[in-house]
Amino acid sequence: MKKYLLKLIFGIALIGAGLFMSMSSVSASELTGEGEITPYYIACPGGGKHSMVGNATGRVINSKTGATLLAKGHCFRCRKCGLIIVSQNSPILGAINLGKYATGSGPVSNHTVLYTTAGLSSNSKLGNDEFTKSLTWQ
Ligand SMILES: [Zn+2]
Repeated sequence: MKKYLLKLIFGIALIGAGLFMSMSSVSASELTGEGEITPYYIACPGGGKHSMVGNATGRVINSKTGATLLAKGHCFRCRKCGLIIVSQNSPILGAINLGKYATGSGPVSNHTVLYTTAGLSSNSKLGNDEFTKSLTWQ
């Protein structure tokens, strides 16, 4: 009888350990997604789609480490709300995708430096995600 009880307790402990391990593996897989960024802007606050105007060149820098994430990018700014994109490729020059890019807001210049904590996003075809669907190019 005592042996049976011990086996039962051991069994419960095993199930408990199993549950604990499966719970901790779920949180581990959630953590691996932490570096992925999806800009979620859909509508322009100025109304309709963003009207992206070409604004010379830009660079993206990680504001924590100072590392350059994108050295020779194209800079665009929405003429209605001030959304800024610095991207690898230029749709205004005929590219069908942005490639690697980052978004921000604020003033632009002949060479805009965009500081970000979020890292770069990536687009392989204009219009294949919610963010690039919300953009028009002028
Ligand atoms: Zn806009």
